[in-house]
Amino acid sequence: MSEMIAVEIIGVFSLMFLGIVIVVLWFTHANSKLEHSKEIKVKKMEIIDKHFNDMVRIECPYCKTIYKIGEPSCPGCGANTKNILLPELPE
Ligand SMILES: [Zn+2]
Repeated sequence: MSEMIAVEIIGVFSLMFLGIVIVVLWFTHANSKLEHSKEIKVKKMEIIDKHFNDMVRIECPYCKTIYKIGEPSCPGCGANTKNILLPELPE
């Protein structure tokens, strides 16, 4: 009779252990998924940022030269007044 109880106790403990292992695995899996989607989001933002910077142009109000937003000043006349032209986004 006492053997039965011992087996039951071992069974309950192994079940609990198994449950804990499953929960831990599930959490690590969910975490890695989250990390992965975060990485993808960061990459997407980097790509969007790069394209956006490529698309945005600055028009010099003095000589009407159009140049990239990365330029510190107008390559035509040297003025650093920025008149940002936003790209027309396709709908
Ligand atoms: Zn200029």
